[in-house]
Amino acid sequence: MLALEGLTKSYGSRRVLDGLDLRVEAGESVALLGANGSGKTTTLRCIVGLARPDAGRIAVNGVDAIADPTRARRGLCYLPQKPAFPSTLTVRETLGVVARLRALRRDDIDREIDSCGLTDVADCLVGNLSGGERQRLALAVALLPPVDVYLFDEPSSNLDPAASRILFARVRQLKREGRTLLFTTHVPADVQRLATRVVMLRNGRIESDGRSEFELRRYERMLEQFLWGDDHDDAMGGVRGGRDAGVDWLRETIADAGVHSARPR
Ligand code: ADP
Repeated sequence: MLALEGLTKSYGSRRVLDGLDLRVEAGESVALLGANGSGKTTTLRCIVGLARPDAGRIAVNGVDAIADPTRARRGLCYLPQKPAFPSTLTVRETLGVVARLRALRRDDIDREIDSCGLTDVADCLVGNLSGGERQRLALAVALLPPVDVYLFDEPSSNLDPAASRILFARVRQLKREGRTLLFTTHVPADVQRLATRVVMLRNGRIESDGRSEFELRRYERMLEQFLWGDDHDDAMGGVRGGRDAGVDWLRETIADAGVHSARPR
């Protein structure tokens, strides 16, 4: 379980998170959507302890992540948007470091190498991996330790279809096991395959929060619209007039779907 209360964070004069409240229960998989700069990555970085909020509370399975970040981190895994690994370690050695830190066994490393499709590059130096292979390694690192809370920042970016299938299958399994997932995305398929609920951020606050099947499909269509713009007439649902009209249509659609909007404070 993950609970954020009144999370506030500014960089200079820019308020990036503005009193964010979000609770993700065990077994939920929440997609955090929003335009670039709306605060999605900052939210995840605050939970992991990479950014310190100016105000608010974060609980990871009941552990106060601001007062006791080390203990909170033991209960979570984080897949960053731009993972960085030492380039002179092999894939197996990199996973070995994580396994030692988390007191895992060698079998766990072999299982993860296999399950993330890294067998052929297991003994390659990380510095020689392709972008997609590095992303698979990042996924393996994030999935290696069994924890209760998983945070993924744009997990499918850079993944080829085979690796995306691995991600989807693993997330399905995590949901079945009742883990807690929070991830950011701009990819319609991620919403369709991974999310049980979609939360939309705007200027560091929750603009809408939807969890029915109907609402999830609407969000997917919205992302397709953003992705394809005027070229994607099917997703436009008959709307014409360019990107801004599409955004208006999206807002109306969300309102029609009965997704509640956060009240101004
Ligand atoms: P998103 O993930 O929704 O695209 P981010 O959370 O990455 O948005 O960033 C929100 C805003 O905060 C952006 O305008 C970004 O430039 C700014 N920001 C993020 N991290 C820092 C930082 N370490 N220093 C200064 N500004 C930052």
